Amino acid sequence: MFDPGERLSKLVQMRASTDIRLGTGWIFSAIASYVLWTTLAALFLTGLLQRIPSFTIPVILGSIFFDATTLLSLLGICASTGLAYLVFRVVDRQNKHALRIREIFSESLRRIESETRPGQLNVLLPLNSAEQDFSALLQNTHERSAILWAMLVLIPYLGWLFLIITLYHLSEESTVHERMERLLLEDLDRILGAAGSQRIPVETHYLPSRSSTGFLLASLFTIGIGSIFWLYEMISSPNRHFGYHSDFEPNLLAAFARSQVARSGT
Ligand SMILES: [Zn+2]
Repeated sequence: MFDPGERLSKLVQMRASTDIRLGTGWIFSAIASYVLWTTLAALFLTGLLQRIPSFTIPVILGSIFFDATTLLSLLGICASTGLAYLVFRVVDRQNKHALRIREIFSESLRRIESETRPGQLNVLLPLNSAEQDFSALLQNTHERSAILWAMLVLIPYLGWLFLIITLYHLSEESTVHERMERLLLEDLDRILGAAGSQRIPVETHYLPSRSSTGFLLASLFTIGIGSIFWLYEMISSPNRHFGYHSDFEPNLLAAFARSQVARSGT
């Protein structure tokens, strides 16, 4: 049988540290950031900002002077900091998840290859197809700097444009990841099936139907409001995707153990 090996088992166990489910409540930091900065801009453009009376807050050694610009800017920076942290978490978890899955497929293919005899065509043919799909996965997925994009999102007003760019990259790569991952799972299912294992359940209903271009246009035409819904989608959709992983990864290990054609003990 194919031995899943210690490394593959460890990669599956690492799911707890890479597939982090984020609370959708974080979306309120984006809403607060948008509302505060647009309110400041609207008050400035309409000339109302200068008419709002300033005030002072007494402290121990005197008082602190506040006007509407200072107050709205400070609140806006606080909300943007929450939004930047959210962007960091969303990009970082996608990087970590994609890396772990690449390692799982790489290790799975490596073990199957090392345990397959040269004349075992029923395994070698689907293995060849799996290796081609794996190299396509490597070419089509790219790691993004979570810190860089989070810092760019912090910039008032311009940061919203960077948020839209980040969401577009995340959304596209997430769609590619999920499609390529399904193809590779089907390949592994064929290989392990040829080796005498039961099938790995390969679900398709979880695949996202979102359109990155549609979200992009909606974000631009609504002056950024659409990107709040897009961000919500990019928080919640991976949460569902991780649920699917928690179902199929133990099944993948079990399918390895059940396969019976190749030699064992490597
Ligand atoms: Zn995945």
